[in-house]
Amino acid sequence: MPEQNDERVFGPAYLWDFHCDGAACGCRCCRGWRIPVDMAAWERLARLKSKARKAVFANLTEKETGWETKHDEDGTCAFLDGNGLCSLQKAHGEDYLPDVCDSFPRVSYRFSGLVERSLAMTCPVAARLALLPESPMRFEEQTTEARRISSAIRPPMEALRCENGLRALQLQMIALLQDRGQSLRLRLLHLGRFLAALEARYRTGRNKLPDAAELAACAKNVTPETENWQRASAYTRLRYMAGLVAELYEAEEEYNPIRLNELASLLADREAASEEALQALHGHILENLAVNELFLRLYPFACAGGFLDNFKLFALRFRAAEFALLLEAAGKNTTPDEETVLLLLNSIMEKLDHNREADKTLKRRVAEDFQDLDADEFLAFI
Ligand code: SF4
Repeated sequence: MPEQNDERVFGPAYLWDFHCDGAACGCRCCRGWRIPVDMAAWERLARLKSKARKAVFANLTEKETGWETKHDEDGTCAFLDGNGLCSLQKAHGEDYLPDVCDSFPRVSYRFSGLVERSLAMTCPVAARLALLPESPMRFEEQTTEARRISSAIRPPMEALRCENGLRALQLQMIALLQDRGQSLRLRLLHLGRFLAALEARYRTGRNKLPDAAELAACAKNVTPETENWQRASAYTRLRYMAGLVAELYEAEEEYNPIRLNELASLLADREAASEEALQALHGHILENLAVNELFLRLYPFACAGGFLDNFKLFALRFRAAEFALLLEAAGKNTTPDEETVLLLLNSIMEKLDHNREADKTLKRRVAEDFQDLDADEFLAFI
């Protein structure tokens, strides 16, 4: 019998195995980015007794966008102690943590009857758990002790309206991405075609999602023929992706435009072989990343626009992550090993998840560069 403070959670099965381990990740989430303090947490902290309150507020700072924790020059949160533990949690308990610390790396959407939850791949411990298994990522529902309500995100209105049919759609999309009989690129194409076809039906069917059997039939109708798959010239695609990665990294570190252009040229000469080698060694990691991102961002309701626009954003984000691996392969003339793959994915997911400019860049590029393209034309280009 579910207890009153239980919640039904639907998500990837790896979710239940996650345990935060600051020692394993070097407290990754406590360094390098802003840690906002929501108003409810601020009020709890403001009610602490005078001495404790003073000590806590010495580590907080007020910015235009609201309160956040102070950090040192390296970006380490002021509450992180020398043993890699959170001094705020140690002194006052986890009830006093801001929502973002309480929830990270969990991403939760609260629907009327249940929560959808998965883990962000910016947490190295979560990434290892989610991405490394060779078997396809499984999804399931469990009833567990409820987490703090305020750390769950309210889903977009359209996703809420489709709540009853959403799970069938998510499982169908995941099945397309996990169809290991095809290359990942062809699976993406299948997903794009499926969402375009579904969107047409959805709009004429009063915005109601079809049931699982109809979704499967719709997917079958748009199965791509391998031999019809045409891509734009390697030169065009690789220059485009190099430009995108340079913009996402704001020309920092080794991802400056000159270096990226050099790498893109190297890659142009051996793109097919590099992709094949990457797929052979780490295809399961890329598949797991795609599946996790699809679910975590609630596609095809992640951004404004239709299902096809959502697909383009999803595919461009994914391709940016995959491209970072291909560039590494081109630069070193060998396929990166598992640890390097995890590090590179971690770094690019940090850019994509924690940098508003990166998010804007991707959305702007989808709107400006690919607006009139169908799924085939779009994927031929990236
Ligand atoms: S990055 Fe992940 S494992 Fe590391 S401290 Fe944060 S939540 Fe825990």
